[in-house]
Amino acid sequence: MRSTIKLGKISGIEIGLHYSWFIIAALIVFSLGEHFHHVNPEWGPEKIWIAALVTAALFFITLLLHELAHSLVAQRRGLKITGITLFALGGVSQMQDDPSDAKTEFWVAIAGPIASLIIGFGCLALAMGLGWHRSVQPRTAVTAVLVWLGYINIGLALFNMIPGFPLDGGRVLRSIIWGISKDADRSTRIAARVGQVVALLFILDGIWQFFSGAGFGGLWIAFIGWFLMDAAKASYAEVEASEELRGIRVSEVMSRDCIIVNRGTSLQDFVDTCLLTTGQRCYLVEDEGRLLGLITLRDVGKVPRDRWNSTTVREAMRPLHELHIITPDTSVLDALKLMARNDVNQLPVVSNGALQGIVSRAQIIRLLQVRSVLRLPTTYSPVPQSHSGTLRRSA
Ligand SMILES: [Zn+2]
Repeated sequence: MRSTIKLGKISGIEIGLHYSWFIIAALIVFSLGEHFHHVNPEWGPEKIWIAALVTAALFFITLLLHELAHSLVAQRRGLKITGITLFALGGVSQMQDDPSDAKTEFWVAIAGPIASLIIGFGCLALAMGLGWHRSVQPRTAVTAVLVWLGYINIGLALFNMIPGFPLDGGRVLRSIIWGISKDADRSTRIAARVGQVVALLFILDGIWQFFSGAGFGGLWIAFIGWFLMDAAKASYAEVEASEELRGIRVSEVMSRDCIIVNRGTSLQDFVDTCLLTTGQRCYLVEDEGRLLGLITLRDVGKVPRDRWNSTTVREAMRPLHELHIITPDTSVLDALKLMARNDVNQLPVVSNGALQGIVSRAQIIRLLQVRSVLRLPTTYSPVPQSHSGTLRRSA
């Protein structure tokens, strides 16, 4: 997510604020100003606006605490969290990997709502300690702020526990089904379906309320339902895609038609005879049959043009020990994850110490397009035979 302001780091987690947050912050400040003016007409404008601003700032901190609860539990359970971004509709924690077991998923998902509940009841208890009673409107500015924060955080916890994937409640539901059925993909599918049903109920309820006179409030509920519906559909499609990718082995997509260049070749020769004539972007560098590394268009681009004649491919290449190697049996999904994590576009495929081929992102995407045009079922896998093409040497 771009266009975010970086606020700093907590426990190694980058905290970012998306610009859309300011729209919501402004809305909150204005509606709070209205609310305080309505409830305490004797307050002067200064008191009202300061209370509204402080409340909005504290609300931001409680949202951050909700997200931090998710992230810190995830860290405790060995997951890598790169950052937290707060935006108009709440926050997201960017996890590098998905939880690998049902228990982790359960605790990571439920940590946020638990944090919001504790904050909510804590604020209300504090307000009561300061003399507020549930049956009356808070009289002082401090109790008014605490009561609003208390109710909004409890509301936030309850909303997030709606069992619609990908809300926290949907993740909790998914982890429970996962724990019982031991099938991660099936549990996501069920949770996403439940999410769609919940979303539909929201939309219908919103429309019903709109026509029974609730006006804008009804439309707002319908809008939340529409947002949930979209999110549930997206998670369903994601499972479908990743299940398909998990079923395909790298050996089915890798290119065996790799071009090999000798380590002594100058970059100038390499550009003229390989890059400009074959259109391929990735080549293997070899020394008398021994694989040394990989050279790509990107590596050549890093060397200034006036040094192409004096630089060999060996000097510009990425050596083997820096490359992540996969085997023909690796799933395409794992290969894609590895490429994303290391920011590379291709990986060498090695089996028993011998190079078998290269797999690239572009190849995998093309393969998925072919499968979707042919409408092949996810279970379809080609018969592994008669792959033409062998390792090819450049002249
Ligand atoms: Zn959450």
